[in-house]
Order: sequence, then structure tokens, then C-alpha cells
Amino acid sequence: MRFSKLFVPTTKEAPKDAVLPSHIYLVRGGFISQIGSGIYNFLPLGKLVLDRIRSIVKEELDRAGAQEVQLGFVTPASLWEESGRYQKFGKELLRFKDRKNNEFVLGPTHEEAMVDLVRNRVKSYKALPLNLYQINTKFRDEARPRYGLLRGREFLMKDGYSFHADEEDMKREFALMEQTYSKILDRLGLDFRVVEADSGAIGGSGSRELMVLADNGEDDIVICSNESCGYAANIEAAKSLNEGIVDDEVEMTPGLFATPDIKTIEDLADFFKIPASYLVKAVAKKAIYDDREEVVLFFVRGDDELQEVKAQNACGALELVDTDESELEAVGLIAGFIGPMEIKVPFYVDERLRDREPMICGGNQKDYHFVGFSFKDKAFEYADLASAKAGDQCVKCGCELEITKGIEVGHIFQLGDGYSKALNATFLDQNGKAQPFIMGTYGIGVSRLVAVVIEQHHDEKGCKWTWESAPYHFDIIISNIKDEEQSAFGEALYQQMSEAGMRVILDDRSERFGFKMGDFELIGFPYAVIVGKGLKEGTVELVDRATLQKRSVPKDEIFQQLKEL
Ligand code: ATP
Ligand code: MG
Repeated sequence: MRFSKLFVPTTKEAPKDAVLPSHIYLVRGGFISQIGSGIYNFLPLGKLVLDRIRSIVKEELDRAGAQEVQLGFVTPASLWEESGRYQKFGKELLRFKDRKNNEFVLGPTHEEAMVDLVRNRVKSYKALPLNLYQINTKFRDEARPRYGLLRGREFLMKDGYSFHADEEDMKREFALMEQTYSKILDRLGLDFRVVEADSGAIGGSGSRELMVLADNGEDDIVICSNESCGYAANIEAAKSLNEGIVDDEVEMTPGLFATPDIKTIEDLADFFKIPASYLVKAVAKKAIYDDREEVVLFFVRGDDELQEVKAQNACGALELVDTDESELEAVGLIAGFIGPMEIKVPFYVDERLRDREPMICGGNQKDYHFVGFSFKDKAFEYADLASAKAGDQCVKCGCELEITKGIEVGHIFQLGDGYSKALNATFLDQNGKAQPFIMGTYGIGVSRLVAVVIEQHHDEKGCKWTWESAPYHFDIIISNIKDEEQSAFGEALYQQMSEAGMRVILDDRSERFGFKMGDFELIGFPYAVIVGKGLKEGTVELVDRATLQKRSVPKDEIFQQLKEL
């Protein structure tokens, strides 16, 4: 490709709402442009990167024995009604009607559609296992589309679904997909972790996420500091141990104690001169269900924070939202003074409070706390509710946990038979008996990965594409296009490299050298060959974009050296 012909509108201006490097550089480097909120066009260079990632994903999946299909992006709502998700999925699901008043959705994920493809077509255990995938557009009407390609509304995902005769075979495939996804990320040159995850709205039991480590990641991940242990989990699912400060000396005479206007954990700890691990924190939320809304309480230890996803899983709500003092008053609760005694709303208690005594909790009376509360033998509903913190102990090995930031790029689920049962998709087993398929499902964000490569590989000048993600590997920059010798050498090298099948672009524009160099740094091809003044002495310069180091190479050796790269 010649730069002079390439449609690559690079600019100095970043979009107003862009805060992350990947968003800024992908727009400035002429890879993508926004056409609507959370909707992006891919320009030639962006499309090249997207296609490279797509083909790596395809190669690795095909090698693992999965088969590519393509499902309709527009999905009949009736399939979503069969699974029960039409109501449950919430506002991310874009629903619409056609001219005949039939209802449809824009597929945010395709469990229903894939089960529908397979049911009544795969009839016997002999045709199993089967792993089908597509690399196709998804639409999710995200509440806050942002960060460019990282959280779009329209995006490209590889979604795969596997069908098995039993649990054990599904688990084998799940492990194979974990390996396959890891290989894809390795090839893309990404530093990542596979972490235990929450299963979210898709349902199912075991699930893992592939997290690329990045300071700007939206997800908190908990990692064991003991490398040989390897425990890693999304904070939404992370388990941890922490006794909190326990002092044998502490004694309390049970009873109400006046605590005028003292509501926060901090003020209480000060007031009683006691560590926060002796206090009980009450967090009130409004839980939204299919058919009702109600105030729900969660109790955690004073030195812990409530993890909202765990809380939502505990009560089974579709969503938890904030509540206010008046809503609390309506159910007889006084904000700042809530304790787990004689309350009329549903409540859940964190495991770390089980059997704990003596504790201080709200007195359920204005300006009173209850001192000396005991959780011993209380038949409360206990659940894992507290968020893991840096410094907590690992549940596997007891070593200290650390917290770091990640971007989720892939999510693999052991789905089980939830969808096949709901959609009545069965096969005949060895005894001729109809059984629902046991399923796994596997997603990887292809367009998100374009941005993720840049989040992990950039500097203050622009992008640094990794070898397998790069739109072109080599950028031959003719320093002065009017210099005939430079032009001729650049052209000849370009021809030679193209014929050798190397991915090369020739910067043959009649622009200043500095401008062309700036584009190289912003766009981020892995290497540049500068054909400039040195040519008179028989040399060209080779620039490594990753380090920006330059070295002079004899012009007769440059082709061979580039080939070796
Ligand atoms: P997130 O937690 O980031 O919202 P998710 O859990 O909803 O993602 P999945 O349903 O597991 O995502 O989808 C599989 C993959 O699709 C994700 O790992 C991610 O790479 C990609 N993906 C999901 N939502 C988006 C989005 N809004 N924009 C771009 N890629 C996305
Ligand atoms: Mg997910």
C-alpha cells in the first residue's frame, strides 16, 4: 500500500469525550470514527486491524475443532420469550417491531438463536459434541457507552456455543476453550489473567473471564501474591479470608446505648474506641424483581464493603438501586441506626459475621446502637457479601491478596441445560432416551480487542501495534520525495518487500519528513525504514516503534534484516 493512496485522515484533535489512550489514538490515527453514540465506523487501517484479530480468533477456534456459522443479527422476539429472557434482559436489549407488527430484538448474545439452530437437527448423542461459533455484530443498548471501542453499543464479538451429552464432556470443552482463548491473547501480545467470574444474566455455574491487565481497566481483579497458587478472580466473585482485628479483652454488656447522631462506621469506632471489625454495617438497597420492588438489607462487618454483585446474587434481584430515608422510614427503618433485630424487610448477613460476638449494631431506634450483639446460633440467611480487599488472605493458600485493574476481553461459561430445557432442545442418549443438551458458551470481544491492544501498548506519541495485530509491519518513509535517489531506493525496496509477501506501506507523500515521522509514531506500525540523507553514504535507518530506537543499516543489508524481523 502507498500512503499517497491510503484513506487515513490522521488529526491532532482528540474527541471531546475521549479520556483513554486507545480511544484518543484510534480516532487521531484514522482507524475509527464515531457515527453515533457507541457506534463506530472502521476506516481502512482500523478494518485491517479488526480483520487481523478476527482471523487469529478464527484460526485458533478452527484448530480447536469449532465450526464457524453466521446467525441472523435480527432475532425474533419469540425465541427470547421461550427462554424467558425477553422480560428479564432489561434495557440493554433493543426491541422493535416490523411493518407486520412482529417483534424482534437486535442480538446482544445468541444462546436462543444457536439452540434453535441445533434443536431438531442434532438428534443423537452420536452427533455430539458440537461447538459452533460466529464472529458477528452485536448490539447492546448500554447505559453508558464510552471509551471508544471498549464499550460500544454496536460491537463485534466472537460468540461460541457447545453442545454435549454430559457435564464431563462440557467441562473438557470448557478447558479447551480456556486454552484456545489464552492462545489468541498470547498471539496478540497481551498480558492477561484468567479469573474466576460471576455468571451474570446469561446464567449457568462455573465461569471464567479473560482479563487483560491495564491501569485503565473497569474491572477490579483479585490476585494471590503467591505465584505458585495462581488464584485470581474478578472482585465480583472473589472469595477471601479476613478475621479482622480480634481482641480477647473486649467485653460488652448487652443493651441499647445512646449514640446521638453517630451514624457512620468511622464515628462509631471513634466513639466506642474500638476497631471497625466489632461494628456491623447495614446497607439498604431497593431490589427490583420481575413483579415487585422492595427494600432489602445487607449486613457486613464494619471494616468490610458490600460487593453489589454478590448482594444481587444473594437476593436474586434483577437490579439493586439506591434507596432513601423516606423509603426506609416507610418500612420502619432509621438510616444510620439499623440492626438485624426484629426487622420486617428481607435481609442477608455476610458469612464473616457468622458466630461473631460481641458486636455493636444499630439499635433500630433513633440515636441508639445495640452493644454486645451476638451472631451465635442466629438462623439468619448468610451469604458471601463482602468485597475482597488488598491484604485479605487467599482462600486457597492463605497468602496475601492483591488488587489490580483489568479489561474483560473474554468470558467462558459452563452453561448446563438451562437454555436447552427452556427451548426444549433434546437429543437421544445411548438408551434412546431424550435428554436436554448440556451446553457451554464462550465469548470474546473482537472489536474491544482492537482497543485493548492499544491500552496495553502505547506511549505519549501514539499506538504501538503488536506484531500480529499490526495493520502493516513496515513503513518505508522516503524522507524527501523530490530526491530521485531516495525515491528510487524506496520504490525498489517496497517492490522487493511486497513481492516477498511482507506487509509493507510506502510513505511516498510529498510531505515534510517530520510530518511523516509523526504519522508513523501516531499510527504505530512496528518498524519504519527511513530512506534519507544517509543514503548518499549507503545507509538507511531502521526505527523500532516499541522503543523508538534508531539504528543505521547498510542499504544492501536492509532487506535481509527486515526479513529476519
Ligand atoms: P462487560 O462486563 O464488560 O459489560 P459482559 O460481561 O457484558 O461485558 P459478555 O456478555 O461476557 O460481556 O460478552 C463477551 C465479550 O464481549 C466480553 O468479554 C467483551 O469482550 C465483549 N463485550 C461485551 N460488551 C461489550 C461492549 N459494550 N462493547 C464492546 N465489547 C463488548
Ligand atoms: Mg462477562
